[in-house]
Amino acid sequence: MIDIHSHILPKMDDGAGDIQESIEMARKAVDQGISHIIATPHYNKGIYENDKQKVVNEAAKLNQVLDELEIRLKVWPGQEIRISDELSDDYDNNEIMGLNGSQYILLELPSNHVPRYTERLIYDLQLKRLTPIIAHPERNLEIIKNPHLLKEMIWKGAYSQITAGSITGKFGWRTKRFSKYLVQSGLSHFIASDAHNVGNRGFQLREAYKLIEKNFGPEIVDAFIENAENVLYGMKVKEFLFD
Ligand code: FE
Repeated sequence: MIDIHSHILPKMDDGAGDIQESIEMARKAVDQGISHIIATPHYNKGIYENDKQKVVNEAAKLNQVLDELEIRLKVWPGQEIRISDELSDDYDNNEIMGLNGSQYILLELPSNHVPRYTERLIYDLQLKRLTPIIAHPERNLEIIKNPHLLKEMIWKGAYSQITAGSITGKFGWRTKRFSKYLVQSGLSHFIASDAHNVGNRGFQLREAYKLIEKNFGPEIVDAFIENAENVLYGMKVKEFLFD
């Protein structure tokens, strides 16, 4: 299994606090059946200064440690990029990157609203041949109130990723119900852990897939799993959109 969103790199953000915690997270990931994980530390200028080169270096270091410990998890570099109207420049300046260097760029919205410039930003990134993936739209208050906002982004070619814990109910029943709606209507293309630690923000990827299988059948789970693989290798993603 492939996990495309995680905070497994040490001392980068609010994820793993040190290398020991990264190792513990790696062990949990393997227990979950995850063999490849994309490390996506927050990129948010002034708060989290994790540029592309830093993430690439840290991922290589963690891979070496895991290798020495014979933990069978391969870490790939990425970022969870907080949207701003400077992202186009940041991309040109080589500060941000797609997931594992692919065309798929993981974008984080603020949690309470969708900024006016989002649509324009998505368009600008597409002009650079990038495909935005909106991280956990089910946790955005404005999208919950008005799912049409997400639909518009997806009609325009963006994808979306639901966090496993949202499916299992970790973030409350409202988030759980809305996540179910997103899966049901084909408005989401990926499930990922967004794991931050081994405690209250763990993986739950296996649990989430189990629930999705129970509610929607095995085909959709296979499609999600395949899509995560497609991202890792920069291949075309399967689209759903049921209505
Ligand atoms: Fe995250």
